[in-house]
Amino acid sequence: MSDLNPSLQQVDSEIFDLIQKEEQRQDESIRLIASENYTSKAVMEATGSVLTNKYSEGYPGRRYYEGQQFIDPIETIAIERAKSLFGADHANVQPYSGSPANQAVYVGLAEPEDTIMGLSLPFGGHLTHGWKVNFSGKYYNAIQYELDPETHRIDMDYIRDLAKKHQPRLIFTGGTAYPRIWDFEAFGEIAKEVGALLIADIAHIAGLVAGGAHPSPLPVADVVTTTTHKTLRGPRGGMILCKEEYATKINRAIFPYLQGGPHNHTTAAIAVALKEAATDEFKTYAHQVVKNAKALAQALADKGFRLISGGTDNHLILIDVTPFDITGAPAAHALNDAGIECNYNAIPFDPRKPMDPSGLRIGASSITSRGMKEEHMESVATWMDRAIRASENADELEKIRLEVKEFCQAFPAPGVMVD
Ligand SMILES: *Cc1c(COP(=O)(O)O)cnc(C)c1O
Repeated sequence: MSDLNPSLQQVDSEIFDLIQKEEQRQDESIRLIASENYTSKAVMEATGSVLTNKYSEGYPGRRYYEGQQFIDPIETIAIERAKSLFGADHANVQPYSGSPANQAVYVGLAEPEDTIMGLSLPFGGHLTHGWKVNFSGKYYNAIQYELDPETHRIDMDYIRDLAKKHQPRLIFTGGTAYPRIWDFEAFGEIAKEVGALLIADIAHIAGLVAGGAHPSPLPVADVVTTTTHKTLRGPRGGMILCKEEYATKINRAIFPYLQGGPHNHTTAAIAVALKEAATDEFKTYAHQVVKNAKALAQALADKGFRLISGGTDNHLILIDVTPFDITGAPAAHALNDAGIECNYNAIPFDPRKPMDPSGLRIGASSITSRGMKEEHMESVATWMDRAIRASENADELEKIRLEVKEFCQAFPAPGVMVD
């Protein structure tokens, strides 16, 4: 009889070791990847639970499998917490991630070939907002809006003209690299004028919205989609919030149209994250994220970094590194060698190619979860400046890495169990 109870280390030391190393790497580096965060130990406990064993196609009270007496209340709690935290009529907590949540909006509320509008990917939009290599650009008539050439912000007059001209069925707001506030009210008025549905994809800013550090798209947006693992600091997953009139269409789009059984371990962890996000501590966290991002932006600007739109209103900063005579990819690699993780990113009107664009995207959500405050941002900016200037000097990058490692010890990462 094979025994299924030996530990991971005993069963598969190769994977065990790699997870240990990843844990150590996460502990020792300054994580500035704007889409990442550190979940609490409680969220991870729910994620790594027996709920992963259970099938429960359907929705609470209407399932296709027996044995749902504990799964139903778990999903119901997650739904109720989502509705109450964001002030929504309806919540679906089953999307496997942010992209499937958006896909459900398309298949639930539009027809193939319908016109949709979204922020263009190289201007900070998301693939699922109509970019050509994604299903959303292939099966829908996607009109991609861009940013103002001077301010690098969204120009609402231009959005109104574009919407009037193209009469979209869906208008997406939200993005992955837009450092400014989204004017959901103005988008709502335009959507109403042209008879479109307003979809607010708050994947990046959900935690800021929950904590009151960014205006909420509710109640103006018809549908809100989000991931649960970025600023919201939950497990990897997705959610859709919507007005009651779209509830049935959204639920059917997720199941049975796109997905099968929900990931119950994730649902439980989402419930835990939503409970955490409803606390005063989380409100403080969300505001601290923005304060840290602003402090980091100021420290970088003082060192001569060129910040897109001149700064930030949220958790992220987009930087044009080309004035340092370097491009995005080698700058990101140098930072990584120095123990500072970020990603290279296109900047508005970027003349360069996606695999080596002109910019870097950084964010303050993870370092804020580790307890860093405004006064620590000067050190982070100094290390970034040194690493980018020393991008071809392996000794200097290693020296910075050791300084960063030492610094990180004062800020234990939530959920990371390095001794
Ligand atoms: C991250 C993100 C998504 C997609 O999330 P995945 O979980 O990676 O599928 C969708 N929209 C926006 C705006 C995002 O930032």
